[in-house]
Amino acid sequence: MEVVLQNLTKKFPSRDRKKHEDVIAVDNFDFTIPDGKLIGLLGPSGCGKSTTLNLISGLLKPTSGRIFFGEDDVTDIPPESRGIGLVFQNYALYPHLTVKQNILFPLQNLKGKDKLSKEEMLDKAYEAAKLVQIDELMDRKPGELSGGQQQRVAIARALVKRPKVLLLDEPLSNLDARLRLQTREEIRRIQRETKITTIFVTHDQEEAMSISDMIVVMKDGVVQQIGKPQDVYDSPVNLFVAKFLGTPPINVFDGKMKENILYIGEDAVLHTKNVPDGEVYVGIRPEGFILDENGPFSCQLRSVEVMGRDSSVVATNVASLNPLIRAVMNTEHIVKTEEIVRFSLKPGKVFLFDRESEERIGFEVAL
Ligand code: ADP
Ligand code: MG
Repeated sequence: MEVVLQNLTKKFPSRDRKKHEDVIAVDNFDFTIPDGKLIGLLGPSGCGKSTTLNLISGLLKPTSGRIFFGEDDVTDIPPESRGIGLVFQNYALYPHLTVKQNILFPLQNLKGKDKLSKEEMLDKAYEAAKLVQIDELMDRKPGELSGGQQQRVAIARALVKRPKVLLLDEPLSNLDARLRLQTREEIRRIQRETKITTIFVTHDQEEAMSISDMIVVMKDGVVQQIGKPQDVYDSPVNLFVAKFLGTPPINVFDGKMKENILYIGEDAVLHTKNVPDGEVYVGIRPEGFILDENGPFSCQLRSVEVMGRDSSVVATNVASLNPLIRAVMNTEHIVKTEEIVRFSLKPGKVFLFDRESEERIGFEVAL
């Protein structure tokens, strides 16, 4: 099911008694979510992710704009009639019901022509339970399950009615690191198997990058960029997006363009074409540094952290906006140097940003 968001806006009255302007939780969100894809809705806390999801589910009414599921305008349709499955961070299972009863619950309220026989309901419940691999646990109560298992029950319950759209709001946040990894692979697998259009909300960029067909990066209610995870990582539209994606994060420096030479401090680190003179922010991905004793960019070496295949060269530079610079490279490239470490840069891993707007400035490399 394709989901179309058309100029979707949600304003809340201000809670602050001194500030009377509305909070614009979602600002003119315009996007067609392709059928059968998994979309990661990503951004820091408070950027409007849950509000967007709740607008799609119908739990909230938009201030303006429309929502379509396929050809159908669902904007004024209540949540229970939209054909959605919802999963929240806190599982929200009924504690006094067994797993089976929890999963059956949405089926028991079906009326009229949708009404199912007991056998049909059980079949569907077991089918959903198998999909998330909890069919062995059907007679337990939620309290007798681990967090990961409880979240699987919640997913099974959301899937049992075969929703047209599956909406997941930070579904992994209550799980420990290992379960989080495992469950996100699980969600990916289930989504691939069922091909249900899925919107997955998270503040964790790595989570979103790893399972999404496309990511939507939001800030202050405004969509910043939409694209395939790798494309957004490789071509961020602005400094915010560049900083939000990637672990370790991008290294940011004060820089200056002069006659098509990019300077960080005194170092002429890159030669470009067609970039106007002026001050810029320079973003360099951790994998954009090459250890090079004749390299143009010199930093003060602080430490080398070997982590198996890769190593981090940790350094400092007065022009750096982060306290430490992190360059990640193959361990075999590491040679113990003295206090000064010199790099050349991979141009494709270097981004320039306007100082005022923080928008990215495209450039060509001059050889
Ligand atoms: P996220 O899920 O990305 O953390 P939310 O969508 O929950 O963000 O919130 C977006 C903004 O809208 C925040 O500034 C939040 O305080 C505000 N907000 C959310 N719900 C309400 C509400 N019911 N009343 C007033 N403000 C709200
Ligand atoms: Mg939220």
